[in-house]
Amino acid sequence: MSLLASAQEYFDRAARVMGLDDRIRAVLVNPEREVRVNLTIERDNGQLASFVGYRVQHNSARGPMKGGLRYHPLVDMDEVAGLASLMTWKTAVIDLPFGGAKGGICCDPKSMSSEELERLTRKFVQKIHDVIGPQLDIPAPDVNTNAEVMAWIMSEYAKIHGFNPAVVTGKPVELHGSAGREEATGLGVVHVIDEALKASGRTIADCTFAVQGFGNVGSNTARALHERGGRVIAASDISGGLLDPEGLDVPKLLAHARQRKSFTEFAGADRITNAELLASECDVLIPAALGDVFDEAAARTVRASMVVEAANGPTMPDADRVFADRGILVVPDILANAGGVSVSYLEWVQNLQHVKWTIEQVYEHLSETMRGAYRAVAALASDRHLDLRTASYIIAIGRVGRAAVLQGV
Ligand code: NAD
Repeated sequence: MSLLASAQEYFDRAARVMGLDDRIRAVLVNPEREVRVNLTIERDNGQLASFVGYRVQHNSARGPMKGGLRYHPLVDMDEVAGLASLMTWKTAVIDLPFGGAKGGICCDPKSMSSEELERLTRKFVQKIHDVIGPQLDIPAPDVNTNAEVMAWIMSEYAKIHGFNPAVVTGKPVELHGSAGREEATGLGVVHVIDEALKASGRTIADCTFAVQGFGNVGSNTARALHERGGRVIAASDISGGLLDPEGLDVPKLLAHARQRKSFTEFAGADRITNAELLASECDVLIPAALGDVFDEAAARTVRASMVVEAANGPTMPDADRVFADRGILVVPDILANAGGVSVSYLEWVQNLQHVKWTIEQVYEHLSETMRGAYRAVAALASDRHLDLRTASYIIAIGRVGRAAVLQGV
């Protein structure tokens, strides 16, 4: 099932519980704009190569649209549209004054040089510059994009529209980025885990964790869990996983990943597959790589009592039902990984006001936002006997729907 189909099924499940009017449903489901552009660049060897870039702007009822930019060989319009809709619900569930969008370029960044990626990024901005902007649509990092890519976007946009750093977030701190943005998604995941564990009388220091994916989100989640005394017993990247029931040496693993070495080259833990990681014996399982990780069969193998979706779209609806039947608590993506966009919002605000916040201010705001959103979702779920995903969607759909109606659909 595609990520778009899964996202629509989750939306419909909440819409049925809310008794959402069909006319409002139509307004909220369909994206406002879908852009597809051809990007031809010169490779380092002098050959020309063409790529397809996408930007989907899902909904702007609550403000300028916000969403990451993904570079991956599997990027297509359906995936980007599904991810864009998740951004609408994510910004709404944590109550940011933003709508939702997402972008991507179908390419294999691992086989491209930094110079080629820069040319590709700048070409993409040349093609979409008139539909993005600080008050319109603000890109950010996602899979295989980082602060450097965001700096290229800011620089190319400035050539056409003049200096305007608020056009993109996740920039380097030395170039109008915000302190704390890089680690924000992982830290946000850990705030939400802490709140969820508190509800069952546990703490991070009492628990064991398995983290799939060790990029921006996975590595920062593992680091923050380790710093709070949590035992990260398994972790993986695309090459496979590592297991140590006594707890992996997280600082050593972070240093290893910083050198861009794969987990296959890491000594000091048993090697496992990504499938074995999902089935590992732990309290909290954290998918932090790509979507569509749990189908029904994979969900049956899970031994954790809690799944926290740091990645976007890791759980297909069949798997979600298995988790519910088995009493496994799922903290949904639109809530769990909203820390990134929460600090992106702070970066945008700082850029618009030409001010710089301290890391302490950013961390405090992030913690309040994530913990407050978790408590509101958990309270609704408990009052109405709902799962956390449905409760999150109900809060988000209510906010977006009201904003749309107030403006006169
Ligand atoms: P990233 O590119 O920094 O890292 C991705 C990681 O996943 C890498 O370690 C990679 O080796 C691993 N991986 C890729 N394919 C895999 C596979 N088939 N099996 C196991 N591991 C695999 O990406 P990221 O920014 O950390 O994003 C990870 C997820 O979090 C994505 O779903 C993204 O949409 C979501 N997310 C990211 C942010 C952000 O701020 N970067 C915010 C919200 C959500």
